[in-house]
Amino acid sequence: MNRAIIYPGSFDPVTYGHIDIIKRAAKNYDTVYVSVLDNNKKSPLFTVEERVKMLKDVTKDYDNVVIETFRGLLIDYAREKDVHVVLRGLRALTDFEYELHMAQTNYLISGGWLETVFLSTDLEYSYLSSTTVREIASFHGDVSKFVPECVAESLYKKFGY
Ligand code: ADP
Repeated sequence: MNRAIIYPGSFDPVTYGHIDIIKRAAKNYDTVYVSVLDNNKKSPLFTVEERVKMLKDVTKDYDNVVIETFRGLLIDYAREKDVHVVLRGLRALTDFEYELHMAQTNYLISGGWLETVFLSTDLEYSYLSSTTVREIASFHGDVSKFVPECVAESLYKKFGY
């Protein structure tokens, strides 16, 4: 059995909330693919390459965590890799509706082959999102409590402080 899981997302940028989910998944699966969605429709703050680099930096001590990118449908990417389980993090009720919808859609369009599992956020990070971090950094605020140092430095550079 392929004990691998795909953790897809924008990771724009990666936060301690994402890292907590990645570390917990790495304890329970042989391989965790952290897969950055290369989506032309969104206008991200960081390029895909920058997001991949930050993710690689912050997960370098985890041998079974692999950082990749993908385009298009998640099921096509998962099928290509022969990985049948997707991981998503749940913070609050506000995440729930969207995540449920995505999980059910993927299950349906894959013909019942692509499952989604959820890890609930550590309480410490339940408020934390990449959007909040970008917002604070855009006003030159201190983001050191939300992201590792290398990510904070990239944010400071991006916003010129
Ligand atoms: P997306 O744009 O696909 O929602 P994100 O990069 O914002 O991608 O998030 C990827 C996944 O990580 C989502 O499942 C999201 O709910 C989860 N996540 C984001 N922040 C946190 C957090 N603070 N704690 C737990 N899970 C989180």
